[in-house]
Amino acid sequence: MTDPLLNAHDLPARWARRRRFVIVDTLFGDGRAFLAAWAAWRADPERCERLHFVSIGTLDTLDRVPVELASIWPMRVTGMHRLELEAGRVVLTLAIGDPGEMLQKLWLRADAFNLRVHASDDPRPLCKALARIAGDNATVAADAHPLLQRALEAAGFACDEPAPPLIKARFAPRWRVRRHEPPLAAATPERHAIVIGAGLAGCAVTSRLAARGWRVTLIDRNDGVARDASGNPAGVFHPIVWRDDSPAARLTRAGFLYALRHWTALEDAGHELLRTRDGLLQIADSPEDALAIADAIARFGLPASYAVAATRADASRIAGVDVARGGWFFARGGAISPAAVCAAQCAVAGNALTRIFSTQIDRIQHDGHDWHAFDATGTLIAHAPVVVLANAHDAMRLAHLHGQPTRGVRGQLTVLDPSPLGALRVPVIGDGYAVPLAPQRTLTGATYDIDSTDRKVRSAGHRENLERLARMLPSSNVELNQHVDGRVAFRCVTSDRMPMIGQLADETAARADAGRLSGAWPLDLPRAAGLYGAFAFGSRGLVWSALGAELVASEIEGEPWPIERELAEALDPARFLLRALRHGEFK
Ligand SMILES: Cc1cc2nc3c(=O)[nH]c(=O)nc-3n(C[C@H](O)[C@H](O)[C@H](O)COP(=O)(O)OP(=O)(O)OC[C@H]3O[C@@H](n4cnc5c(N)ncnc54)[C@H](O)[C@@H]3O)c2cc1C
Repeated sequence: MTDPLLNAHDLPARWARRRRFVIVDTLFGDGRAFLAAWAAWRADPERCERLHFVSIGTLDTLDRVPVELASIWPMRVTGMHRLELEAGRVVLTLAIGDPGEMLQKLWLRADAFNLRVHASDDPRPLCKALARIAGDNATVAADAHPLLQRALEAAGFACDEPAPPLIKARFAPRWRVRRHEPPLAAATPERHAIVIGAGLAGCAVTSRLAARGWRVTLIDRNDGVARDASGNPAGVFHPIVWRDDSPAARLTRAGFLYALRHWTALEDAGHELLRTRDGLLQIADSPEDALAIADAIARFGLPASYAVAATRADASRIAGVDVARGGWFFARGGAISPAAVCAAQCAVAGNALTRIFSTQIDRIQHDGHDWHAFDATGTLIAHAPVVVLANAHDAMRLAHLHGQPTRGVRGQLTVLDPSPLGALRVPVIGDGYAVPLAPQRTLTGATYDIDSTDRKVRSAGHRENLERLARMLPSSNVELNQHVDGRVAFRCVTSDRMPMIGQLADETAARADAGRLSGAWPLDLPRAAGLYGAFAFGSRGLVWSALGAELVASEIEGEPWPIERELAEALDPARFLLRALRHGEFK
């Protein structure tokens, strides 16, 4: 092996036959370190199952596209971009932002660090950040810097004799250097999970676990996939631009970009997802709103491939019909068939997947080793070390979540067939949405009826949808007539409108320790071994499901998380429990 960095980490010997190996690189630069690691992994018959390479860069990093990565290179936006190679066995996660801040936001257990410290930088905060995420004996290879050795040692690393031009060290703390241990894989004797719910959430989790060699038993009360909320004829997908780059804006950006890559991989594998290709138009709520968002797009330097502001005239030209106001255009947004996405995700899971349909799970129970899922007659349906609750509003009941954090929201869609909006070229969203399904067929909706359980299609709902449509597209001028068709489904939402994604808390243990946990952080909470959730996707199942599944699979496997830890905490299913503990509700 000739590459000095790999040599310094004793690679490839150290990754031999391991399930995963994680390299963190504090400066992506021209990508040479990643390309060398990838080439060495490729050439090594003893290579680890999955190689994770997490690299930090700035927006400028994205301007220099390595030719080897051109086909998967991300858009020029900040945040974490997860790029998969070698059928997902080599994973490059680019953390784009302020380099010092990004390192603090990673959540992973590193086996090796490539460190670049600028001569004028103080290396102490950097070394402290490394100590938070270093695995046992994690190695460091760094360019020489006068203050680095002392900073590494103060953070719990043992330095080798200097071997210019590199400084080498190993994580071997002799005292406690961190409050929380970095993430570890779930301790499971076998890779088998039960996934309850076969909508967008459950099918995505199925595909991300199967890609990691897991066996999945997918259970649904319906007789096939995507029969409830995920069974709409089409759904729209797009990121959100806010006046500030809030956590919600950053999360929807991450979800949107991850979904695009995930769907492209499904399409490349031959699956037809009925995805529109001409972009999506969002109409502003008011002219002031349009101006403010146009300003935000310019301020954040968002590329035209992500979002561009559109005047009313521009927007009408893009839409092919007159629109009420200007807004903004997402060139990569669009509409897709949720049911086709679900079917493709199950298909790629292949033999790893066992389907158990027409079966409702009444309760789940842990016996100290496995989770057991029972139906209402008490019959055991399946057991496995891991359960993922992907069953929307019913997840809260199965997991006995404190404070009942989710609600059902009825939504009625209207299908115009034939449609007076035959000229509509792209999906348009605003107060509601309009999606061209076929030349003379338009999907529009949807009502938002909190806590309604009415499953019937109602003409009042159609009327509401048509009024909403007329406010967005003044020329739509649709009368309620016999050609109107509809569908009712139920969203599952939380009070903060964020989904519930990740490992669930052990609520019994948390309540018993409520006093100590009254000032707890998410990492302080006791967690339920092997119990995860992916639900409460609200009106954005398409944007949340693939990224959510990748986060859950990464947590289960102890792999680097695909988003910043602070963002994952905004989705943590334990956040409502945490608030209750902080408010002293269990004392
Ligand atoms: C009218 C309407 C329009 C929407 N439009 C869009 C859109 O344009 N874009 C977008 O991104 N999102 C949209 N959404 C939201 C999107 O449909 C949801 O976020 C998404 O489908 C949720 O997926 P899910 O897998 O969590 O839930 P579901 O698709 O509801 O799947 C949950 C599954 O769990 C099963 N289940 C529940 N309990 C049990 C149990 N105890 N045992 C066994 N199985 C069980 C159910 O049978 C169901 O199949 C819309 C929603 C509605 C209602």
